[in-house]
Amino acid sequence: MTHPARYWHREGERIVCTACPRLCTMSEGQHGFCYVRKHEDGRLVSLAYGKPNAVAVDPIEKKPLWHFLPGTTILSMGTAGCNLGCRFCQNWDLSKAKSHHKRALELSPEDVPVLARREGAASVAFTYNDPTIYPEYVIDAARAARAAGVAAVGVTAGYISDAARADMYPELDALNIDLKGFSERFYHKLTFSHLQPVLETIEWSVKRGLWVELTTLVIPGHNDDPEELRAQFRWIADHVGPDVPLHLTAFHPDYKLQDIPATPPETLIRARDEARAFGLRFVYTGNIWDRVGSVTACPGCDLPLIERRWHAVTANRVKADGTCPGCGAKVPGVFDDRSQSTSGGRRYHLL
Ligand code: SF4
Repeated sequence: MTHPARYWHREGERIVCTACPRLCTMSEGQHGFCYVRKHEDGRLVSLAYGKPNAVAVDPIEKKPLWHFLPGTTILSMGTAGCNLGCRFCQNWDLSKAKSHHKRALELSPEDVPVLARREGAASVAFTYNDPTIYPEYVIDAARAARAAGVAAVGVTAGYISDAARADMYPELDALNIDLKGFSERFYHKLTFSHLQPVLETIEWSVKRGLWVELTTLVIPGHNDDPEELRAQFRWIADHVGPDVPLHLTAFHPDYKLQDIPATPPETLIRARDEARAFGLRFVYTGNIWDRVGSVTACPGCDLPLIERRWHAVTANRVKADGTCPGCGAKVPGVFDDRSQSTSGGRRYHLL
């Protein structure tokens, strides 16, 4: 079963998908680059609608979202396929799969919040691969979730068309957007995409008032040049401001980059210090154990407010109204009665 797709037009006998800047052109029977959008019977269809191939309950800290309902769990789902071709993909078994090769759960948009509630999750995430390639499902499922009091979150590379972004993102409560590097050379050679549309997505999302956190997987020899990182930190400070959290995470050899060593912890720690020198107030390290890089300190009085150990929250002193109990400063993010003072950071698979 397929579902009608949006974001396309005809060019003669062929169809152009406009969900992402790749603008795949498809003859009858052909798939796009992401392999979940197909020209079928003269129209574009989605093969991914209502068919997640991976479903799990994660700590929200794993997304990573560290200023959005901390300590809660999130129903996480992803389909097959992706619109990027990252040579370092850490979910390549999903992103490179064809939808018909993977077992899928039949999950209607209305079923999404029902499953989230059954599992005690405060929110749902479209994650693992890129929700850009199934915007129709994200929009319907996010609407159903919000109507049921369940928040909706996207984890994305931000390589999306203006039209799909304008429809999909306002349905979401928070986004983690990958800023995979800060050179067109890196984006072109290692991800088969382009940097500028991603920067536009980040600026657009922050200016629209969405809660946004950024993630950069730091890969030795590819995007860890100190000058390039400094340019990235300057851009974040100048274009979206110092309150957007930045997660600097460690690469481990995967997919086509098996010959590159894991990121040394000192690279991330040095980069974090540099980012803070540019005024960024919430810079975290991930995939390494680094106590300092796991703590959210109050922007007013520097009191340690949220302490974490890997994906577990070991202490959370932020009040439900999002303020510091010591000085009353507002902590940027989304906090309410659902935020937890501690959590175990456990994840489990449903598919
Ligand atoms: S969403 Fe998929 S089919 Fe559409 S342009 Fe992007 S890669 Fe191509």
